[in-house]
Amino acid sequence: MRKELDLKLTPAEAFDPVHWKRIASNILGIPSGRIYHIRPLKRSVDARHKVFFRLKVELFIGEHFPASEKISIPVYPDVSRRNPVIIVGAGPAGLFAAIELIKQGFKPVIIERGKDVKARKFDISTLNRGERLNPESNYCFGEGGAGTYSDGKLYTRSTKRGNVPEILRLLVAHGASEDILIDAHPHIGTDKLPNIIASIRRSILEAGGEVYFNTRVAGLLIKNGKIKGVTDDTGNEFKASAVILATGHSARDVFEFLHRQGILLEPKPFALGIRIEHPQQLIDSIQYHVPERGPHLPAASYNLVTQVEGRGVFSFCMCPGGIIVPAATADNETVVNGMSNSKRNSPYANSGIAVAIEPSDWQEYASAGPFAALHFQQAIEAKAWAVAGNSLKAPAQRLTDFMKDKVSVDLPQCSYNPGLVSAPLSSFLPDLLTSRLRQAFLDFNAKMNGYLTQEAVLVGVESRTSSPVRIPRNEDTLQHPQVAGLYPCGEGAGYAGGIISSAIDGVRCALAASGKTGV
Ligand SMILES: Cc1cc2nc3c(=O)[nH]c(=O)nc-3n(C[C@H](O)[C@H](O)[C@H](O)COP(=O)(O)OP(=O)(O)OC[C@H]3O[C@@H](n4cnc5c(N)ncnc54)[C@H](O)[C@@H]3O)c2cc1C
Repeated sequence: MRKELDLKLTPAEAFDPVHWKRIASNILGIPSGRIYHIRPLKRSVDARHKVFFRLKVELFIGEHFPASEKISIPVYPDVSRRNPVIIVGAGPAGLFAAIELIKQGFKPVIIERGKDVKARKFDISTLNRGERLNPESNYCFGEGGAGTYSDGKLYTRSTKRGNVPEILRLLVAHGASEDILIDAHPHIGTDKLPNIIASIRRSILEAGGEVYFNTRVAGLLIKNGKIKGVTDDTGNEFKASAVILATGHSARDVFEFLHRQGILLEPKPFALGIRIEHPQQLIDSIQYHVPERGPHLPAASYNLVTQVEGRGVFSFCMCPGGIIVPAATADNETVVNGMSNSKRNSPYANSGIAVAIEPSDWQEYASAGPFAALHFQQAIEAKAWAVAGNSLKAPAQRLTDFMKDKVSVDLPQCSYNPGLVSAPLSSFLPDLLTSRLRQAFLDFNAKMNGYLTQEAVLVGVESRTSSPVRIPRNEDTLQHPQVAGLYPCGEGAGYAGGIISSAIDGVRCALAASGKTGV
């Protein structure tokens, strides 16, 4: 017999199945030996007063857990001789599109400008040491896309458009912990993601798909309004009657070649701000109401949002126990982001704090047409780069100094490895952002008493929150209105934000492309 049960557990009990069994047998009044297996279904922390966990479990009473319900890599059909569909970009959108195409009986041909996930690690290390940025291999470009050397938070609000549990199960089948299936805010960690990505690539190759690394797509082949394939920057042609374009929010050269080829693009609202870093212990004490979180509680996170002068200001991609990383894709621009490993055990808590950017903000760049929002973004990144002495260092200011628009005479310890340069944020952020950020920090401090502290440091610029350009598509067919067979996909095209929603969009585009080529 199977039975579901809701348990209320202390932090020490929440991660230990032995405790679950003991408590369940007490509640039900049955010997614990009768419970052959416990499957956790949902786990969340409740820290409103005294911290405890809620755990929903499924008990197998007098019945074994069936092997058929164990998660493993599916057996995929051989698609090596099937019709090809080109996927540009091996980020979450591209990889999940590839798996779906295989399921639908098509052969995915992935073309990725960056290196495979292992080789990419070397460039990430060189970048983190502040030595060199490789414009083709960095935090945004390379196998796995921007999601690989990231925090790996898998939470999304866009559940209506896709099957999130199926995406999570696929990640588990390829090596992610089963915890991601049950936790309210699932998280993988940057130390685990590369092996999972490599395992997904193996599935694609074993099914007969193709993957090309170090290959930058530089143009589309179009004839009579229909896609015929793509060309790379050395002039090689790759032919197919469907192309899924999933190149992420930082491939500015892709937007440029599309524009040169007369493909319609639009400027798109996005968000821009800074990354804030606090000591993790401070965030733990605010969120858990205890001086130390102890060995069982995870590093505490937060999610803050407010409205200032008609604009949303919000925390973005909060990384408890994480580090701030350099996320630019070229020299002459400073961009930061955050990540953490699976244990989330760094002594720092960082988060983007971003302000919604709207068309009135990029009026100055209106003559740039579809690139107006992008030029607004680029100008701030370039100013920050100059302020940081044209280096991989990042401009930074203590939060309390920012509130008074005062240069920080010194800066607190910070996780940003390439180093910081003390500079007022007002030297590179426009007033429309600094004034709203100041008000937002007052609001956030009212919600999290102690948030506004001189121990907190602000690091610029958090500018790649989503794409500043949209590649339009027909909402029914998901194809570009001018080019049959071209599927703008994922975050870069403006249809997703985050790992899971990009993966969902990849699946949708693959399904649409399968229907379109329909053989
Ligand atoms: C440091 C960091 C941390 C993050 N943390 C999280 C997180 O915890 N949770 C979360 O949900 N999201 C996180 N994100 C955001 C998330 O990674 C993205 O939303 C997601 O990866 C977008 O997926 P995508 O497939 O649309 O595009 P991308 O992941 O950007 O993939 C695009 C791919 O296309 C390739 N490409 C670009 N141009 C070309 C070309 N011309 N030819 C061939 N290939 C090309 C790129 O190299 C890249 O691999 C983080 C991002 C960063 C940078």
